[in-house]
Amino acid sequence: MRYQHSKDQSAELLRMVMAKMGQHDAAYNPVTFTVWYEQVAGMNSNLSLAIERLVQAHTRLDDADMWQLYQSFVADVDPQAMHRIGTQLNSMMLGMAEAAMRTGDQAGQFGEQLRGLTDVLSGPGGPMLGPEVAQAIVATAQMRSVAQALEQEVSTSRKEINRLRDELTRVRDESLLDTLTQVLNRKGFDQKLAAMLTKPAKAGHVHGLIMLDLDHFKLINDTHGHVMGDRVLQALGEVLRACGAANTGNSVARYGGEEFAILMPDTSRDVCQKMAELVRMHTKAMKVKDRRTQTVILTVTISGGVAVMQADDDAQSLVARADAALYQSKQAGRDRITCA
Ligand code: GH3
Ligand code: MG
Ligand code: MG
Repeated sequence: MRYQHSKDQSAELLRMVMAKMGQHDAAYNPVTFTVWYEQVAGMNSNLSLAIERLVQAHTRLDDADMWQLYQSFVADVDPQAMHRIGTQLNSMMLGMAEAAMRTGDQAGQFGEQLRGLTDVLSGPGGPMLGPEVAQAIVATAQMRSVAQALEQEVSTSRKEINRLRDELTRVRDESLLDTLTQVLNRKGFDQKLAAMLTKPAKAGHVHGLIMLDLDHFKLINDTHGHVMGDRVLQALGEVLRACGAANTGNSVARYGGEEFAILMPDTSRDVCQKMAELVRMHTKAMKVKDRRTQTVILTVTISGGVAVMQADDDAQSLVARADAALYQSKQAGRDRITCA
């Protein structure tokens, strides 16, 4: 689900949304509400940036602004529709390019024939070349060059379409990344997990899920400040990448706050446990330093839970089992991994 706030949290957001709606000209409709909700919740950084720019440009936002913001930053690009449009455009261009090529080839052949005919006609003993034939030769040459120009144009357009399609894919991928840690965000995690669950594991393998949570992270924030807390989260993202947790079909995501997840399709419980232990050891060895003095300010530990998929599992039950294992690690004193 896109919105994870509790009733109490959302009541607070609602208050802020009402204030924002009052300050601007757009109607009080669901589009306006959603745009402001995502902005005040700080859950959509691209949207927030766009609003900031718009407000700088003309202070009060109206219905047109809201609709534009909603379309660009809230509404999902339907991936299937995008793929279909891309494919259709591409095949249309391909068709045009082939037609242009054929026209060019045919004009070329026709031109050759005409030139041959001209040689015969104007050769010794041949009748005098009529002006119509001379004209036909010129017209054919023109037709050929037009066809060639068209072919060139189509090939350029095709490159442009491919570039746009890549760009759309990239934008979509970016909306699945957590901006702070550069691993998948919750939406990205949900998609990857759903994809993993729809594909049965290869024979002799299982799909695995690791949930990891920083220990006493609230204390780190309280002691060293939120900015330092954010740096720890970034550093954990780097540790996860360095451990290869996102390699070869695996995915790493920030599940929420200071909780991370590793999805490992087609693996074994043992491999999952080893990966979780590797990340735990590397996290423990991580030294967060003062940028100026290079002195070590703090070290952190994580606790983890591992679960592998069972026949009757869905996303919820698999996550719940990994979470329960994580909870056991916390209960048993933290800085450890438990396998469900
Ligand atoms: P435990 O070992 O039981 O997990 O204890 P904990 O303190 O880590 O757990 P708790 O759930 O009490 O606190 C989590 C803290 O994580 C509280 C919240 O402020 C902090 N946090 C969540 N997201 C972020 C973030 O994006 N940046 C920072 N700096 N802190 C965050
Ligand atoms: Mg924690
Ligand atoms: Mg937590």
